[in-house]
Amino acid sequence: MNEQGRIKYINSQTRLLFGYTREELIDQRLEILIPERFRKHHPAHTTAYMHSPSVRTMGAGRDLCALTRDGREIQVEIGLHPIHTQNGLLVQASIIDITERKIQEAIITRHVIELEAKNRELEQFTYIASHDLQEPLRTITNYIHLVKEDFGQLHTELPMYITTIEQSAKRMQSLVKGLLDFARLGRDKVLVTADSGRLVTNVIADLQNLITHSQAKIFISDMPHLNVYETELQQLFQNLIINAIKFRREFVPPVIQIASEQVEGEWRFSVRDNGIGIAAEYHERIFHIFQRLNKDTEYEGYGIGLANCKKIAELHGGKIWVESEPGSGSTFYFTIAKLNA
Ligand code: ADP
Repeated sequence: MNEQGRIKYINSQTRLLFGYTREELIDQRLEILIPERFRKHHPAHTTAYMHSPSVRTMGAGRDLCALTRDGREIQVEIGLHPIHTQNGLLVQASIIDITERKIQEAIITRHVIELEAKNRELEQFTYIASHDLQEPLRTITNYIHLVKEDFGQLHTELPMYITTIEQSAKRMQSLVKGLLDFARLGRDKVLVTADSGRLVTNVIADLQNLITHSQAKIFISDMPHLNVYETELQQLFQNLIINAIKFRREFVPPVIQIASEQVEGEWRFSVRDNGIGIAAEYHERIFHIFQRLNKDTEYEGYGIGLANCKKIAELHGGKIWVESEPGSGSTFYFTIAKLNA
């Protein structure tokens, strides 16, 4: 357009975008391409621009509305470029139709909002349910205690029955607590720059008894500093290391290798063990809450550890999975997206 705000040259893409012929546009005022409600103020904007013309690149924050020949409004991004010619100042405008992008953005935003609301609801539900389950359990445990004290000597079988009830109640208590912790996970998360190697050494220090007792050997390769939810990530490492020790083969001291690798803009960590391994058909299921494979064996557990790990990896925009050879060991992998602290 020229200094007076009239269209002087157009390319064929502009014709396609707006649906006009060349003749219909040339020498028209630019306002022909602008929705009615913006037209009044536009000449003033044009005059102001012509007084101090500058290059305006396309980009966020300059999303505008345009009008096609058949009256449709489209969303556009416009870049402006002044050109000084013998015949005066011309301004070249580059126009991109971003209507489709805007629709996609709106859909994504709506999905994110819905998902967040559902997550909050679910978290609240689990939280309340767990609290309510804990109440009667406490009563059961207290009364068992009283029965044991008052009547324990009267019946020979009674102590055994009571012990069984007591153990079940305790297990239930632990499961409910596990569920509660699972629901709470990530509630108070704080993003910090942390040394992942230090998180692993903290875990190893905490597990010293277990490590000595099982004669486990743990090797750590170079580990990065990265932005993470520190407490949660340490818990992830802890769960994987405990499992690597817990699911060891009989008479085979655990050897655990912890490593990291940068893959396509994310960090990929691995925890490899030489334990009992996991059959391929269970590789998905073990990450669901309360899913355990070795229930009837000597391996104790609640089936919550890996569900927590999955939630933590996902809090970090990552994934978790396992590769395993039954009888010779498993490698758990998880990724952490590069987050901004
Ligand atoms: P838990 O350890 O309390 O049973 P998890 O959620 O940590 O629960 O693990 C789920 C199941 O996955 C375990 O019961 C076990 O069968 C299997 N598993 C987890 N880690 C390993 C491992 N390193 N080696 C073999 N099996 C494993």
